[in-house]
Amino acid sequence: MPLNMFWDQKIETLDRAALERLQLQRLQDTVQRVAARVPFYQQKFAELGVKPDDIRSLANLRRLPFTTSADLRANYPAGMLAVSLDDTLRLHTSSGTTGKPKALFFSRQDVDNAAELCARSFVMTGVTKKDVFQNMMTYGMFTGALVTHYGAEKVGCLVIPAGPGNSERQVMLMQDFRTTFIHLTPSYGLYLATFLEKHGVEPRRDLALRKAFVGAEAYTEETRRKIEEGLGVDVYNSYGLSEMNGPGIAFECEQKHGMHIWEDHFLIEIIDPQTGDPVADGQPGELVMTSLCREAMPLLRYRTRDITSIMLEPCACDRTHRRLNRITGRSDDMLIVRGVNIYPQQIERVLMAQSGVGRNYLIALEGLDEMTVKVELAEAGFDGQVEHLMKLQSHLAEKLRAEILIKPQVELLPPGSLPVSEGKAKRVVDNRKM
Ligand SMILES: [Zn+2]
Repeated sequence: MPLNMFWDQKIETLDRAALERLQLQRLQDTVQRVAARVPFYQQKFAELGVKPDDIRSLANLRRLPFTTSADLRANYPAGMLAVSLDDTLRLHTSSGTTGKPKALFFSRQDVDNAAELCARSFVMTGVTKKDVFQNMMTYGMFTGALVTHYGAEKVGCLVIPAGPGNSERQVMLMQDFRTTFIHLTPSYGLYLATFLEKHGVEPRRDLALRKAFVGAEAYTEETRRKIEEGLGVDVYNSYGLSEMNGPGIAFECEQKHGMHIWEDHFLIEIIDPQTGDPVADGQPGELVMTSLCREAMPLLRYRTRDITSIMLEPCACDRTHRRLNRITGRSDDMLIVRGVNIYPQQIERVLMAQSGVGRNYLIALEGLDEMTVKVELAEAGFDGQVEHLMKLQSHLAEKLRAEILIKPQVELLPPGSLPVSEGKAKRVVDNRKM
């Protein structure tokens, strides 16, 4: 592996024992700080009868309280701060929720650390200062765009803060400034691929694009493949969470197989979402994260609601920070239909693997407890023969039953008939009368 694939080789390849010593020291420091300054944690510690000095090993982590999304809302706007407001530098809020948002404060050190981890992540995929970065994430309160923006600047890239949407302008910018890598949501990636196709832009011939960082929504390997083909790029999967810096906390290396999570900054656990107990090594469960370096708003054992698992085998790239598997859903997104637990991702996986159907779909829950999966046909997916359509329809219904254990209605629609999303896609409509 060439040396220039590391941003900070020493820390990225630190041996596990040294990494764990660093984690323990940072955990102890974090616990001391929240116990001294955050009333929410003072109260939790009192309830549990735990004192900062009780944390003598990483295994003692389990004595500490969980923190939930509801706790952050209950302490809105500034109840979780561990520094004075004067020492904060930036405010972000969480995306995609109703009611009051979660307020997330960054100190100067936090802003710098977030950019540092993004720089590490980008360089890990081969990005250098010669690259041109067109950022197609939404700028604003959401962390997705700003944190990667500063990360790419740290590497020394030329950054084009394009934001999402307006595909015609995106293509113009990509052509005129020879953009080499982009950052976008999977739904916009799929949309952009269709847009290029429709407008006769052949990315490998007409663009300088080499990589796409795709995140902010869970997606499947099939979706990755479609974006790679449609945009002529390598797609790198990433994981971010606004409560823990935003993007750049876990990223794929050039192996494109699992996301290294930066364990010098975050302590991770995988738990059973029902019981809160740790799952067996390598088993899927809810990711729980403790921040180790966050200054303004440190969080202990934060329940991410994201379902993933830890890969057990070491990575060929020599990094010692463990890898997370692709996020397969959110414990919140779980649908219960006729008593069965279903993640929308399972349905997406089946649809994306099926030739003849397009990229846009909607899961409609109606009536007493009926599920209809509406999916567009591919542009060249219909040869005019009705019996072929019916065959595809029943084939898909069977495939879905094998995956989710109930058999939904399948509705095939002409291309372009479902609403198109240039941001976060809405995939489930629940109109059940129960
Ligand atoms: Zn690796």
